[in-house]
Amino acid sequence: MHIVAIDQGTTSTRAIIFDTKGKVVAIGQREHAQIFPQSGWVEHDAAEIWTNTQTVIGEAIETAGIDASDVAAIGITNQRETVIVWDRTTGEPIHNALVWQDTRTQPLIDKLAADGGVRRFADATGLPLATYFSASKIAWILDNVDGARKRAEDGELLFGTPDTWVLWNLTGGPKGGVHATDVTNASRTLLMDLRTLNWDDALLEAFGVPRAMLPAIRSSSETYGTTVGTALDGIPIASILGDQQAATFGQAAFDRGESKNTYGTGNFLLVNTGEDIVESKNGLITTVAYRLGDDAPRYALEGSIAVTGSLVQWLRDNLGLISESSEVEELALSVPDNGGVYVVPAFSGLFAPYWRPDARGAILGLTRFANKGHIARAALEAVAFQTREVLDAVIADTDAKTGDALKELRVDGGMVGNTTLMQFQADVLGIPVIRPAVIETTALGAAYAAGLAVGVWKDVDELRSMWSEDERWEPQIDDAEREKRLARWRKAVTRTFDWVEED
Ligand code: ADP
Repeated sequence: MHIVAIDQGTTSTRAIIFDTKGKVVAIGQREHAQIFPQSGWVEHDAAEIWTNTQTVIGEAIETAGIDASDVAAIGITNQRETVIVWDRTTGEPIHNALVWQDTRTQPLIDKLAADGGVRRFADATGLPLATYFSASKIAWILDNVDGARKRAEDGELLFGTPDTWVLWNLTGGPKGGVHATDVTNASRTLLMDLRTLNWDDALLEAFGVPRAMLPAIRSSSETYGTTVGTALDGIPIASILGDQQAATFGQAAFDRGESKNTYGTGNFLLVNTGEDIVESKNGLITTVAYRLGDDAPRYALEGSIAVTGSLVQWLRDNLGLISESSEVEELALSVPDNGGVYVVPAFSGLFAPYWRPDARGAILGLTRFANKGHIARAALEAVAFQTREVLDAVIADTDAKTGDALKELRVDGGMVGNTTLMQFQADVLGIPVIRPAVIETTALGAAYAAGLAVGVWKDVDELRSMWSEDERWEPQIDDAEREKRLARWRKAVTRTFDWVEED
């Protein structure tokens, strides 16, 4: 028996087939276009994403050499917060998807924050007011596509994050497609109450989002429907988890105090807080970690960093310092240290723990001595320093609750093949950094949750026993050196504040 995980990510869509031991059997993958209509705007073509989804399922099935009768269930994981609005009769999106990085809705966010501040809805949602989350993006589409608001109110349009879009299409689309999302994705919209796990009328009204267009909120592990068509006809779809929550699940961080950090386009550190909703006083987000069927929901604190891997892409694509992301390591190792250079990648402001939309990126400490090796090194260090600041916020928020659980950090994502970065990370944190055997933790988490729903695995203890360590990095610098570097980093960060001015 096999489980198919569909990972609808920011840069690509993948189908990964797992066996019952949680091992990867086959992968199908397609990138989709990143559309940048103007500075700060980021879009995807949702129709392209759906086409790619069908293609990668077919590819993975063919590579694995299995057929539909060998597949017990499908799980879905996805880029979170990204907004798709489509016509329920034709299945056609009425606008390109507005991607989580898109900052065009800052004016609406400012307007709402003028009355009550950015934490105005934090008690209900666990989130600060920010363009990052879905609500303002839905409003933007309704306000900018002709007739959209009226059609949404009349029930002709549907909203979904990419999980919902994929689920609806896989289950028949205009012909009876299931319109649902899970608690983890819903918790990123700014429209769901963390306690009731329902859409909240006051929030819907504040953002001007009609209830008629919203999906049903379900658990993260249950059968939502059955596939119609594609290479996998008649298979139950049995899990949905936002990508970071899926990675947490795939790292077997099921219990309070367990955590993981994912290094991808951005970085996302999640710490499980069990059944407690912990309010952050230090710039973290409170989010749903997962909910299995009718069990109590589990919550998490999350530190989201907007720019980490994409800083390496920037060195590659915008500066041309390297031609492949992985070459950044060799370039960084061409110098013995950062030579006093610091890169603060506040390309779209700073996310956690600062939440400063007015910040912009900077390279500091330049002298005539500095070369591209120092910049490469500073870029990798920036990833590690940002993670350290998020971890500090987690410790400040949870100390009493998690005790000394944060004694090590489990990592995954595209950057963890960079051992120089992993060593920096252990040095800057002062705790060991641990990479698991299966680093496809996002897809694995979706597969785990789907397998649990259909009985492939018995319970989370069985899943925990399948997790294993691959490599570990121990800190190699002393406390004084660590504090010196951190102080310099913090100073560099403050230099990026107050850069953006309103025209
Ligand atoms: P996502 O899931 O966010 O699309 P991935 O987890 O696939 O991202 O990670 C890809 C990111 O990791 C890219 O931004 C890329 O620049 C970066 N990356 C990949 N390999 C390396 C490496 N060896 N060193 C540094 N960065 C890397």
